[in-house]
Amino acid sequence: MKTDPALSLRMQQFEPRTDELAGRVIAITGAGSGIGRSIALAAARHGAQLILVGRTVKKLEGVHAEIEAAGGRAQIAPLNLETAGAAEYDQLAEAIGAAYGRLDGLLHNAALLGKLTPMEQYDVPTWCRVMHVNLTAAFVLTQVLLPLLRASADASLAFTTSSAGRRGYAYWGAYGVSKFGVEGLTQTLAEEYAHQENLRVNAINPGATRTAMRRAAYPAEDLNAIVEPERLANAYLWLLGPASRGISGQSLDAQAPRR
Ligand code: NDP
Repeated sequence: MKTDPALSLRMQQFEPRTDELAGRVIAITGAGSGIGRSIALAAARHGAQLILVGRTVKKLEGVHAEIEAAGGRAQIAPLNLETAGAAEYDQLAEAIGAAYGRLDGLLHNAALLGKLTPMEQYDVPTWCRVMHVNLTAAFVLTQVLLPLLRASADASLAFTTSSAGRRGYAYWGAYGVSKFGVEGLTQTLAEEYAHQENLRVNAINPGATRTAMRRAAYPAEDLNAIVEPERLANAYLWLLGPASRGISGQSLDAQAPRR
C-alpha cells in the first residue's frame, strides 16, 4: 500500500487543538491497555465521546474511570474478538446506532502477537487465533459498523499495521501475515469508498512502542529506548480527527520506522 514519508511526517508533527475531536463518536478496540488505552485517553481529553471496545472488562472500567475523572465521556463495549459471534457484533452496532445514529471514527487496534516461530513449526491453532483476532474480526466489525460510519459527516476508519505487515520477517508467522492482510483490507476498502468523501480508510503503524506486546516480542530489549504510547497520541488524533480529512488509502507511520 502507499506509504508517503512526507505525509507520515506531517502526522508525526501534528499539534492538536484542545477540542480537536469535539463532537466525534469514536470506537477503539483493545482500549483497555497498551496503545489503545493511551489513544482512548487522549481522544477523550480532546473532546471525543469514546466507545471502549475490549475483552477484559476490568481494564475497560479502569480506562472509563480515568476518562470520567478527567471530565471526558466514554462507554464500555465488552467484545472478545476471538469468540464473538454475529449476535454480539450486531448488538454493538445497534447500541451505537441507537445512541448516536452514526460513528465518526473506528480504530482497529486490538491484536495478538502469537508465537515467534519458524513456519515449519508454527502451531496451527495459534495461527487461526491470530489471523482471526487481527484480521477476520477487524473485517467483521468493520462490516457491521460501515452503515454508521457512512452516516457520519466525516468518518475516519483506521486499521493498525506494522512493519511486519509490509515486509516478511522470518519467524513472525501469523502476526506478520495478518498485518499483510490488514494492509490489503485497508487498501480494498479505501478503493471501494474512494468516491465517498465523508469516509476515509487508512492504516497506521505505531512503530516500536513500550507495551506488553513489544516486551513479549523483544524480551531482552532496553525499554528505555522505546517510546511510550502517550508519545504517539498526536499522530492518532490527526488520523481520527478532521486534520486528515480527504486522505485515504495510506499506510502511515506514527514514528520514523526502526526495527
Ligand atoms: P498490547 O498487547 O499491549 O495490547 C493489545 C490489545 O488488544 C489489548 O488491549 C488486548 O486486550 C486487546 N486484545 C487482544 N486480544 C483481544 C481479543 N480477543 N478481543 C478484544 N481485544 C483483544 O499491544 P500494543 O498496544 O502494543 O498493540 C496495539 C496495536 O499496535 C496492535 O495492533 C499491534 O499489532 C500494533 N503494533 C504495536 C507495536 C508495538 O511496538 N507495541 C508495533 C507495531 C504495531 P487485553 O488487555 O484484555 O489483553
